[in-house]
Amino acid sequence: MRRKIVAGNWKMNKTVDEALDLVEDLADLLTDDILGSTDVIIAPPSLFISEIIEELLDVDYIAVAGQNCHHENNGAFTGEISAPMLASLEADACIVGHSERRQYFGETDALIAKKIDRLLEQDLVPIYCCGELLEERKSGEHFTKVGNQLKEALSHLSANDMAEVIIAYEPVWAIGTGETATPEQAQEMHAFIRSQIAMMFDADVADEVSILYGGSCNPKNAAALFANPDVDGGLIGGASLDADDFVDIVKALN
Ligand code: PEP
Repeated sequence: MRRKIVAGNWKMNKTVDEALDLVEDLADLLTDDILGSTDVIIAPPSLFISEIIEELLDVDYIAVAGQNCHHENNGAFTGEISAPMLASLEADACIVGHSERRQYFGETDALIAKKIDRLLEQDLVPIYCCGELLEERKSGEHFTKVGNQLKEALSHLSANDMAEVIIAYEPVWAIGTGETATPEQAQEMHAFIRSQIAMMFDADVADEVSILYGGSCNPKNAAALFANPDVDGGLIGGASLDADDFVDIVKALN
């Protein structure tokens, strides 16, 4: 079912104590009134997932995601974590294809497609990130770029599996830069993504898929972005590190 979602990507921030403080604050602040029908997901550093899941044992309104996983289930891959490991901690989801993974770790959509498969095998929800570079936007290639990303990472899935995937459109030029896509740019790209999903699968799957916007989304600009019919919520980086800011963004979706 198409869901309204706000997800926080904490990236490589917080010590374990700081992470537990943040999750405690979120659990206190996210009342039923604020949540409405919104799903909240947090993606802490993988090192703390176990403690955070334990902290949230009595809290069923915050789901926990990894920030990345390997494309194999196990093996000699020093420093990596796998989908079965995340599943064994009872995580709910995992971000894949974040632009920082693409940029700094050379990840391609062919590789990301395998990660999505590993996650789905474990009943974990893949949060698939896509988005164009600044020069691609400037040269008018943004639709081609995102269309190709979607095709390469998602077109091998069955319609049933695709129904489990969350898509995050994150224009690379907006991530961590303070420069946000305009509501019009976000809506235009989200509608395009939905049309591509309809072409690859069918109209029902496209209608059901949640498409989140990510890139310098904050309490001030969130409501205007979320007001668009094809924007189903946000993937939030910097502003997810502050409980009040993150909760204000959740409020903006209701
Ligand atoms: C992100 O990294 O997914 C992100 C959206 O970051 P920020 O909100 O800081 O731009």
